Amino acid sequence: MTQRIGFIGLGIMGQAMAANILKHGHALSVYNRTAGKAETLRAAGAQVVDTPAQLADASDIIILMLTGQEAVDAVLHGEDGLLHGNCAGKTVINMSTVPPACSKDWAAALAGKGITMIDAPVSGSKVPAEQGTLVILAGGPEDAIRAQEPLLLSMGRKVICCGESGSGSSMKLAINLLLGIMMEGMAEAVHLAERSGLNVETLLDAVASGPLACTLFQLKENMFKTKAYPPQFPFKHMAKDMQFVIAAARENGAHLPLGNELAGLFSPDADAALLEQDFAAVKTLLEQA
Ligand code: NAP
Repeated sequence: MTQRIGFIGLGIMGQAMAANILKHGHALSVYNRTAGKAETLRAAGAQVVDTPAQLADASDIIILMLTGQEAVDAVLHGEDGLLHGNCAGKTVINMSTVPPACSKDWAAALAGKGITMIDAPVSGSKVPAEQGTLVILAGGPEDAIRAQEPLLLSMGRKVICCGESGSGSSMKLAINLLLGIMMEGMAEAVHLAERSGLNVETLLDAVASGPLACTLFQLKENMFKTKAYPPQFPFKHMAKDMQFVIAAARENGAHLPLGNELAGLFSPDADAALLEQDFAAVKTLLEQA
């Protein structure tokens, strides 16, 4: 029987991921809190529903790509939430970045209702989401993950089974810690080069030509050249994730000197305009210091 897919959360990432699911020929229903964001997908052939509960009724597999734990809780438990619909026997795949403890708690609570929950956050930003080349970090029962691999591979190029429920979320935090360190390192290198009177384009060329060349720096090159930071991975999401990283370090006894510094830079209390820009805009904090 063909699986009916439901997708909730049509933000920067969700729009592109849902579009790729459609392109792979799956029957797709979508819901977004701000209804207007569903129109492009409606035009591409998706069924648009008015509530998460209706989406549960219309789907066998339900994918969530939401801001964080409050949003997932609201979609699961809110008025007209998913759990008010017909979810028994179905699979919920939460691809949002959330604390591992939340993923574990939701998986246990939903298992009690006959629902399988997989945590499957992604490594990769707007461009890999559009290209369908995300790396999917999955936690939960391996047979349930492997059963959804063809669907997941419509959005990504690789599915990595990380272990039990919550381990996908843990893996995502470790990766985002490294991402933050790399971005801050690049921002500091560009900043030092500028203050030393070097041409930024020459520095970027030197980095791209040597052993430090990587996709991340390539994706952000133009932002450093133009000093414009349109959001691909918004600063506010990195600030949210650094809070999760610090909490996870505390829970697990991990010593993260750079992580602690980064949490101060990528802070949810940053200037409101900065929070909406791409996280590469961390460089503006160096310029202002
Ligand atoms: P985004 O553009 O801010 O979209 C967030 C989505 O969550 C929107 O659809 C929003 O609905 C929905 N939402 C928020 N609060 C809600 C609530 N209370 N009830 C219902 N829906 C709610 O975020 P994004 O960049 O796509 O990121 C989504 C997730 O992926 C986040 O966990 C992020 O950390 C992670 N991630 C992002 C990137 C990236 O590069 N952007 C990369 C990897 C992972 P509205 O449209 O109504 O606001």
